[in-house]
Amino acid sequence: MSSAGADESLADGVRRGERRALARAITLLESTRGEDRPRADALLNALLPATGRALRLGISGVPGVGKSTFIEALGLRLIGRGHRVAVLAVDPSSSLSGGSILGDKTRMERLSQQEAAFIRPSPAGGTLGGVSGRTREALLACEAAGFDVVLIETVGIGQNETTVAGMTDLFVLLQLPNAGDELQAIKRGVMEVADLVAVNKADLDQAAATRACATLANALGGFAAHSHGTRPPVLTVSALQGEGIDRLWTEVERIAGERRASGAFDARRRQQSLSWLWDTVHAALLDDFHAHPAVQAALPALLADVSAARIAPPVAARLLLDRFEH
Ligand code: GDP
Repeated sequence: MSSAGADESLADGVRRGERRALARAITLLESTRGEDRPRADALLNALLPATGRALRLGISGVPGVGKSTFIEALGLRLIGRGHRVAVLAVDPSSSLSGGSILGDKTRMERLSQQEAAFIRPSPAGGTLGGVSGRTREALLACEAAGFDVVLIETVGIGQNETTVAGMTDLFVLLQLPNAGDELQAIKRGVMEVADLVAVNKADLDQAAATRACATLANALGGFAAHSHGTRPPVLTVSALQGEGIDRLWTEVERIAGERRASGAFDARRRQQSLSWLWDTVHAALLDDFHAHPAVQAALPALLADVSAARIAPPVAARLLLDRFEH
């Protein structure tokens, strides 16, 4: 079969919800080889009409807060209600460390055995379109395959949350019950993108978890410029015991329903599509810039000159851009 014919049947397989086809499609979309890009682009466009129908939920929190336990508990519950659940990860740090979250096969073992679940670790390394671009493409492929809830996990280190909020409909931040003492991740950027905050491990100390809720609700109230103008609900959950998960999902559906009714839901997606276009352009230009031989040749000396204050930073930048353009 020609590669175009093979890719057409790959797209058909994805649309029929075949998991192997979906896995192969995502591998093609994630490829960092320039020669794969035309096929990947054709596949993406072929799948596009079948996308957009999932609820896209971002989930973040510091390592150990219980993200994978929570995703497994939530995922199993949603499958029990007839949903099909895909789990993806955004881990920009993995391009540095070479590792990846969700990489550990023992995580989410029960969920991964479900026919109605699809779990994909974050792509490691490479820059073509950036890690987040590849996760966005994987998300569309999952939607085309009929997964109607897509959970995107990221490690809470500030920048990641903004990236994931930029590709999801709703963003859930998990916190530990000792938030009252330490208030982890109460960084302005993170709180501004959180649509819902869940204090996990409430089973360990319900009173502490309830106190943490009050402290967090208070802190959130201080962020008057929250992106949606409403204060995100703060709930206690126990991912391990499955407590509070139903209530959390009810809140997710309520918020999503309100935004659908107001038009904010679709507006956010349109905005995200445009941002994705620009992100891709910026990333590609930056790659070209760094790969340019004349830029590479001039860079070390100019960096040294800027560090030693022998040349003004914008002047050095313009010298580099001149070399890039000529
Ligand atoms: P992640 O690093 O955020 O993905 O966290 P994990 O899901 O791997 O959980 C870290 C540890 O916390 C594991 O030992 C879990 O069993 C435990 N854990 C997760 N959720 C809960 C919970 O609700 N209650 C209790 N007591 N332990 C939990």
